[in-house]
Amino acid sequence: MPPASPSTPKDPVTETDVAIIGAGAAGIGAARQLIAAGLSVRVLEARNRIGGRTITIPLKGHPIDLGAHWLHAGPINPLVKLGRERGEPLRRAPVDGHLFIKARQASRGESAALDRAFAVADRAMTQAARAREDQPAAKALPPLGRYGARVAGIHGLVSGRPLDEVSLHDFPSMEYADNLFIAGGLGAYVARLGKDLPVRLGTAVHALDWSGAGVRVETSAGTLRAKAAIVTIPMALLQRDAIRFAPDLPQPVAAAIHGFTQGVYEHVILHWPDSPFRGPDRLASLVGHHREPPGLLTRIDGTPFHFFELDQPAAALLDSRDADAPGRYARAVLAEQFGFKAIRNLRVCRSTAWRHDPWSRASWAVVPPGRAAIRDTLKEAVGERIWFAGEALSRAQWGTAGGAWEEGARAAEDIAERLKAGLA
Ligand SMILES: Cc1cc2nc3c(=O)[nH]c(=O)nc-3n(C[C@H](O)[C@H](O)[C@H](O)COP(=O)(O)OP(=O)(O)OC[C@H]3O[C@@H](n4cnc5c(N)ncnc54)[C@H](O)[C@@H]3O)c2cc1C
Repeated sequence: MPPASPSTPKDPVTETDVAIIGAGAAGIGAARQLIAAGLSVRVLEARNRIGGRTITIPLKGHPIDLGAHWLHAGPINPLVKLGRERGEPLRRAPVDGHLFIKARQASRGESAALDRAFAVADRAMTQAARAREDQPAAKALPPLGRYGARVAGIHGLVSGRPLDEVSLHDFPSMEYADNLFIAGGLGAYVARLGKDLPVRLGTAVHALDWSGAGVRVETSAGTLRAKAAIVTIPMALLQRDAIRFAPDLPQPVAAAIHGFTQGVYEHVILHWPDSPFRGPDRLASLVGHHREPPGLLTRIDGTPFHFFELDQPAAALLDSRDADAPGRYARAVLAEQFGFKAIRNLRVCRSTAWRHDPWSRASWAVVPPGRAAIRDTLKEAVGERIWFAGEALSRAQWGTAGGAWEEGARAAEDIAERLKAGLA
C-alpha cells in the first residue's frame, strides 16, 4: 500500500519538529494541533492504514465499525465538539434499551428495576471511591437482587476486565452519559480527520534514542530526527518493549507503563434481519438463562447488523479454540435465549480479535486496584523530549477514542508551548 503522503522513506535521516508514533485518534489529534501551531510533524504508523483501534469497513453495503463505535461522554468528548463544528452527521444514542427475561419482553416495571439497579450501583461506587484506600471496584457493589450479576457484567464489559480486577478509584471517573453515534461509522470519521496529514504508513518504530539533543527515531524505513516525540502506541505494546528507549525510561515511567492490564472487548458482528429487537441502536439485556450475552447492540444504524460483544472472560474461554468459535458461541447463547428457529437466518459476518492484533494487543488499557495514579504519571514529559499520549492517559475518558484524542491534543499543546519557549 502506498504511503498516505509523499515523504522520504529512503532518507537515512530526516528532520522534523515533532515525530508522532502511531496514527490512531491520539496521533491524529496531536498532528492536527501541532500543524495548526505552525510546527512540522511526521506521523509514523506501523499499519497500512490510519485510525488504529477505530476502523469502519463496508459489510453488505453498510459501514460497520470493527473497533470504537460510540462517541461516549458527549459534553466532554472533543470528537463530538469537533464533529459539531464540522457539521458531521452526529446523532444521540437512545437511552432506552431492551430487556428480555427468558425470551419474554420484560414489563415496564421490570425494566425500571434494572435501571434502578444500575443507578444504585453507580451511586455506591462513586461514594466508595471517595475513600482514601483504593479497592477492587467489585467490592463497592451493594446487593442488587436479581439484576446484580447483570449490572456487574455490563460494568465489567465496558471496563475491559471483571470488576474485581479494576481500580475503584479509577472507575467512576469515566463519564458514560450522553452518548452519540455518527452516520457512516466512527472509524470513517477518524480517518476523515486524518486525511492529508503527513503520515508514513507501514513504518514501525522500534527504537527511540533520547541520549543527545532532541530524539532519534529508528523505524523500519529509516531514521528520523526530531526535536520531540509523541508516543501513542498502546500500553500493551510498550510493555512488550515494542520500542527500545535509549537511555531507558525513568523507573517511575516504566513502572507506570507496566502497571496497566489489558482490556478486552470484542465484536462478533451478526447480520440478523428478523431479530426480535425493534428500533435502531438499542442495547439489549437478555437474562434468565444459563448463558447471557455480555453485551448486545441491536440494529446498528437501523440495519440488520448487531454487535454481540465479548468481555474478557468470554474471550479468554474462546482463545484456545478455532477462529469460528466466537461466532458459534454467539449463536449458541442466542439460541438458548430465543430458540434455534429464531436464529435460522442469523449470519455471523466477522469476529474481531484486537487482543491478538500485533499493533494493539488489547482493546484498551485498564488500571488494576491500587494503581489509579499511573495515568497521571505518564503525562509528565520525559527529558522534555518524549511525551506519551493515547487512551490510557485520559482520566475522564479512559479507554475511548475521545480520550485518546484529548491526550494527543494535550501533549501537542504542551510541546508547542515548550518549543516556542525554546525549552525542548
Ligand atoms: C472492539 C472495540 C470497541 C471499542 N469501542 C469503543 C467505543 O465504542 N467508543 C470509544 O470511544 N472507544 C472504543 N474503543 C476504544 C478505542 O478504540 C481506543 O481507546 C482508541 O481508538 C485508542 O486510540 P489511540 O490513539 O490511543 O491508540 P490506537 O488507536 O491503538 O493508535 C495507536 C497507533 O499506533 C500504531 N502502532 C503500534 N505500534 C507501533 C510502532 N511500533 N510503530 C508505529 N506505529 C505503531 C498502531 O498501529 C495504531 O495505529 C473500542 C476498542 C475496541 C477494540
